[in-house]
Amino acid sequence: VGDDRAFDAETRSICPFCGVGCQVSIKTRGDRVVKVDGVNGPANEGRLCVKGRFGFDYIHHPHRLTKPLIRREGAPAKGLNVDPGDWSSVFREASWEEALDAAAGGLKGRGREVAGFGSAKCSNEEAYLFQKFIRQGFGHNNVDHCTRLCHASSVAALLENVGSGAVTATFNEIENADCAIVIGANPVENHPVAATYFKQFAKRGGKLIVMDPRGQALKRHATHMLQFRPGADVALLNAIMHVIAEEGLVDRQYVEAMTENWDAQRDHLKGFAPETVEGLTGIDAATIRAVARDFARAKAGMIFWGMGISQHVHGTDNSRCLISLALMCGQVGRPGTGLHPLRGQNNVQGASDAGLIPMFLPDYASVTSDEVRARYAELWGAEPLAEKGLTVTEIMDAVHAGDIRAMYILGENPAMSDPDVDHARAALAALDHLVVQDIFLTETANYADVILPASAFYEKAGTVTNTNRQVQMGRPALPPPGEARADWWITAELAKRCGLDWRYTHPREVFAEMKQVMPSLDNITWERLEAEDAVTYPSLSETDPGQAIVFGDAFPRENGRARFTPAAVIPPDETPDAEYPMILTTGRQLEHWHTGSMTRRASVLDAVEPEANCSLHPATLRRLGVPAGGHVRLTTRRGTVTLMARADRAVAPDMVFLPFAFVEAAANLLTNPALDPYGKIPEFKFSAVRVEAAEAV
Ligand code: SF4
Repeated sequence: VGDDRAFDAETRSICPFCGVGCQVSIKTRGDRVVKVDGVNGPANEGRLCVKGRFGFDYIHHPHRLTKPLIRREGAPAKGLNVDPGDWSSVFREASWEEALDAAAGGLKGRGREVAGFGSAKCSNEEAYLFQKFIRQGFGHNNVDHCTRLCHASSVAALLENVGSGAVTATFNEIENADCAIVIGANPVENHPVAATYFKQFAKRGGKLIVMDPRGQALKRHATHMLQFRPGADVALLNAIMHVIAEEGLVDRQYVEAMTENWDAQRDHLKGFAPETVEGLTGIDAATIRAVARDFARAKAGMIFWGMGISQHVHGTDNSRCLISLALMCGQVGRPGTGLHPLRGQNNVQGASDAGLIPMFLPDYASVTSDEVRARYAELWGAEPLAEKGLTVTEIMDAVHAGDIRAMYILGENPAMSDPDVDHARAALAALDHLVVQDIFLTETANYADVILPASAFYEKAGTVTNTNRQVQMGRPALPPPGEARADWWITAELAKRCGLDWRYTHPREVFAEMKQVMPSLDNITWERLEAEDAVTYPSLSETDPGQAIVFGDAFPRENGRARFTPAAVIPPDETPDAEYPMILTTGRQLEHWHTGSMTRRASVLDAVEPEANCSLHPATLRRLGVPAGGHVRLTTRRGTVTLMARADRAVAPDMVFLPFAFVEAAANLLTNPALDPYGKIPEFKFSAVRVEAAEAV
């Protein structure tokens, strides 16, 4: 794939995969990318993982959409029946004029019947335009994106208790910590470059506490590895906090000066003596006490978490516990301290900041605030509706209810990514108008009436914001292939055809408009980003590279104090029983990204991990009579998949781990759509499942 001996152009941009936001140098020869190297960005200092270094050639895959497509009259009924390499019996090519007219024609004037899913893989400017199109064009807030499926509960807890949905410190701050907790995250596979900083931290003597129901690669570097029972997070974290309170290790000065509601939290913790939760958590009291002492006594401690925390019906409660743990130990706002939910997609932080969520306008300004809406009325000439919109899974329910009849989906793949995905697929099939804008004919595009060919990230000019709050400049190394176009241009053309007076000619104009309503972008300009590549927000002056650590003096809440919100133990929505006796948990693998539309078309990554697989403990495979590499059938109350099984001692004997990138054994056919009541995030991490030996399919 790579040939660094001959390239004729080099472009600095950002890796399009995870939220670490590694800066890259894209080497091109003619109209092809031939190599990608890491460069010295603030989050990666030249490092790249296998996806960033070798996962780029999907952009040249023959499946790339290069012309607008319209569903043929008399095409087969909508369903997963389209070959992404040979779609001609279902779709026909169309000119941009015809396709845009058809796309807009099915949306225009339909108000609340229309909903939109934008994308965390697009730029900040594209996310801003998408939410503006839905709000200004259709007069409501039914717009969302995949943050609803990854960290919505973390953001809900952070906004509630800290006053800001972003991290309080960059992950690189671990260099200044002497203790760090990594919980419900597998950074070695999911945030690999961040994981290199975690490993270095452990190697220089930092105390690394890893907590996860799956043993994992970071375990080798951990001072403590707590492989707790799935779903027992709140009990475990409350027990750790109980010890800190009981043993007088609370930072009383910090709690008194910087927080509120401590008395309620302290009283709540009394019921969580470690000895009382050993059975529930699977962790002995002595270990819980040792971990509590290490974190509370640290001069500087950080907490990192991932979707193992957020994707539960108690995901917001999990995050509330982590926030309380940091606050009671005074571990926020100083070098080497902080709260850091490791964000998933390359621009999920930026897309959320830009307002691609149904309850907030840009910079988390509430749609229910009169003052906020008055500001938008002035800027947009249309006042946003005061009613919060529907979230990703609620929109699918509204389609089934007949309330939403048309959708515009940009770069998301709900036909793979939604929980209980048959429910989402049936909703997509029931729509009477679906516009899909993407780079490939995804499973979701199978259901489209109009498909608009879009640009991959290495073909885009635009900014993205990584997990560290670093706003970074993405630059195009190549033009989009064929007649594919930039996403911002496509959205703007649709908006014009829906009657909006949009006159953008370049993403820099959109960025300038965003700055009018996003104080987080103060002192950050397009020109500055072009010159400096990255600026962390908040930036206090035009020469300040940005604040790696925030909230040292006060929290952005009305009284300047962070809040303790006690969390009770809420069990998983579905518990194992005689019919479904094991626990299914889902996630990503190192080589594959989300629904696989990109990485399964990247030749190196697909060669390394070509087949749908799940992981089971060797003892479980023995019990089932299945050899490693043999096949198993997984069945939940929603569906069944059959796939290859790997032996993996990291998976507990009563669990199965299932990656969600493989359409041929789609994990979300099985997952439980039960939602966390605050973040509205589904419980992807816990379903009751039956596992049986099977023949290969
Ligand atoms: Fe890309 Fe993330 Fe890997 Fe960095 S760590 S190269 S951003 S996938």
